[in-house]
Amino acid sequence: MSIKSKAMRYILAIDQGTSSSRCILYDQQANTVAMAQQSFKQHFPHPGWVEHDAEEIWASQAGVIQQVMMQAQLRPADIAGIGITNQRETTVIWERSTGKPIYNAIVWQDRRTADDCIRLKQAGFESMVKAKTGLLLDAYFSATKISWLLDHVEGAREQAERGELAFGTIDSWLVWKLTNGELHITDVSNAARTLLFNIDTMQWDDELLALFGIPSSLLPEVKSSSEIYGQTHNSKIGAGIPIAAIAGDQQAGLFGQLCINAGMAKCTYGTGSFLMMNTGQQRVASSHGLLTTIAWQIGNEIHYALEGSVFVGGAVIQWLRDGLELFEQASDSEQLAGSVDDNGGVYFVPALTGLGAPHWDPHARGAIFGITRGTTSAHLARAALESVCFQVDDVLQLFSVESGTPIVQLRIDGGAAVNNLLAQFQADISGVEVVRPTNLETTALGAAYLAGIAIGLWTIDELNQKWRIDRSFQKKMRPLEAESLKRYWLKAVERAKNWVE
Ligand code: ADP
Repeated sequence: MSIKSKAMRYILAIDQGTSSSRCILYDQQANTVAMAQQSFKQHFPHPGWVEHDAEEIWASQAGVIQQVMMQAQLRPADIAGIGITNQRETTVIWERSTGKPIYNAIVWQDRRTADDCIRLKQAGFESMVKAKTGLLLDAYFSATKISWLLDHVEGAREQAERGELAFGTIDSWLVWKLTNGELHITDVSNAARTLLFNIDTMQWDDELLALFGIPSSLLPEVKSSSEIYGQTHNSKIGAGIPIAAIAGDQQAGLFGQLCINAGMAKCTYGTGSFLMMNTGQQRVASSHGLLTTIAWQIGNEIHYALEGSVFVGGAVIQWLRDGLELFEQASDSEQLAGSVDDNGGVYFVPALTGLGAPHWDPHARGAIFGITRGTTSAHLARAALESVCFQVDDVLQLFSVESGTPIVQLRIDGGAAVNNLLAQFQADISGVEVVRPTNLETTALGAAYLAGIAIGLWTIDELNQKWRIDRSFQKKMRPLEAESLKRYWLKAVERAKNWVE
């Protein structure tokens, strides 16, 4: 079987997500050869707190790597490189001497440090933080999670001051484990999510470290997103496999969609909708609540990105399914919504957990407007699917305005991207071409691409040739109709805002 032939080289993508650890093996044509996935436990010790056991994350990740290597009957020597992509911002601190975490990992969703962030905001620090990091002062990012660990785990601050502890986002933790503690590194795309990294100087920032009270001895060395950092040195995985790429999940997704030039954008339609636009070497500051971040660094070239996340995307379809029991499967939404010609004047604002980018209103709640006696479940389903697209459009329009580069194409992935009605409606109201690739596993693919580039297996031109489109959706709607729909949508959003007191 060619699979074991010496000439064939493989790339292993490690995709460490919020609910599961995955591993995907690619051949040198970037075809998927094997895949394994394992979920792990979510810990909710108090309302608003979310933790993972970092040892369990490692065990599940090592387990799926072993499974994939067994499925494909590979030895370490058959693997040309490993690319890592990971849930971002999630914070681990461990002891350098033993490799033992001092506490559970604090997950990006965790809100325990929200009040600390409010205090820093009230003290007037947000503009400095935003200017340096491109982010907002929010509990979402790593910095206040690190401070919390140092302040609440007994002896941690003293240990940190003696240089005995290491901080890492999940990528750093995995590399530490893969190399048996030889490497303590991260990449620029992950560093850019900590609130401690200056995205202009590309250094950890002393003023930010002082603000959050974090000793610099904790920090990993920051590397590019695509280079050989070192080799594995682990009894479970084997020795000598080059570790060749690291990127945060959204950034890896942008690369996996080959949005490699300024002006290219992707949207992942999952539980929420996650948008990112490549702004090239230009760092675009947002005045409308978008984040500025580093997309990746390859060689000396850094790409920046604008990012906007919508809290409720596919989740509104879940709610129709589970809350209203309108249909049995999320995919049934397409047929039901397609059984009517239009929304019949019904607009659904899915602010089920408040509104994220670009409206930012935690007090907004879900609302349905325009119901008449003629309204049916089909209109509701259609309004819900349309609401996913309206929210994406709000962010997309801001991308164009803030970057000064009109977006002409949107590349899509995620669980809801298979819905043709949704994809067509997005093209219609946003006035862009919507492109769905055949391989929707763009996050893992991006990590594999970055690793393949680092080891000289692929060039970007070759990757562009391998990339396949499943379907492209062109705008069909008349501009006046799209305008009218969007006008009503924005009116509905305004009325849903500031609901709970
Ligand atoms: P996540 O990674 O955030 O868990 P996925 O990318 O797996 O999410 O996407 C799942 C989401 O997509 C769910 O919220 C589900 O309701 C929605 N979804 C899945 N299939 C469809 C479909 N055919 N039409 C519309 N929504 C869908």
